[in-house]
Amino acid sequence: MNLKKPVITPSEVRTYTYCPRLYFFEVHVKLGKPLKSKIRMLLGRILHYFREIIARLKGFTVEELIEVDIGPYIMRGKPDYYRVEDGEVFIVEVKSSRGPHTGAWFSDYMQGVAYGFILSRVRRNIREVNVEVKYMRSTARIKVNSEHIALLARILDEINIVKVHGILPYPNRSQAKCNRCIYRDICFKLDEDLEVNIEEPGSWIRDYIHIKS
Ligand code: SF4
Repeated sequence: MNLKKPVITPSEVRTYTYCPRLYFFEVHVKLGKPLKSKIRMLLGRILHYFREIIARLKGFTVEELIEVDIGPYIMRGKPDYYRVEDGEVFIVEVKSSRGPHTGAWFSDYMQGVAYGFILSRVRRNIREVNVEVKYMRSTARIKVNSEHIALLARILDEINIVKVHGILPYPNRSQAKCNRCIYRDICFKLDEDLEVNIEEPGSWIRDYIHIKS
């Protein structure tokens, strides 16, 4: 009997929080990314590279693999960069996109919360976790509180259900998201064929678009 625990990464937390249905497709369908998206990723990587050099000069730890076993699953990932100072963790997430008018997109922020949670478990005497999301034209700085950790726990449980049991979750639709989604046709067709009258996993996420700094 294979007792290997599922691994959940903060990047998965971001994708699930952006659109739970997209997360399902990325795990269970896995279409290749189109060229445009590959080019965007490459440009993002170049931007990251230059920002990483500056972060190292400022004393941040860059792209270090961190991991914690939290019981039903293992959380593992590499934060863009972080620093621990007098019991405070500062996590920095760099995005090559634009942020909302104020604060951070909920999905980007929850990715940072997931890294902060892992670090608070692997480092001793952490009193406070701060997440900074750096967009192309703005930066959001948010102090993690107990409500954010409770939301993370809910997201992790739902990811586990979708990943391990293949349950189809909520499509967090918006014109901007769906128009550029490679799973758009299959996603809309699925909803035509399904008569869903029950609350799907992840439907609560529609109430969380961005989070204020
Ligand atoms: S089409 Fe829209 S709702 Fe469906 S997976 Fe893509 S982003 Fe999510």
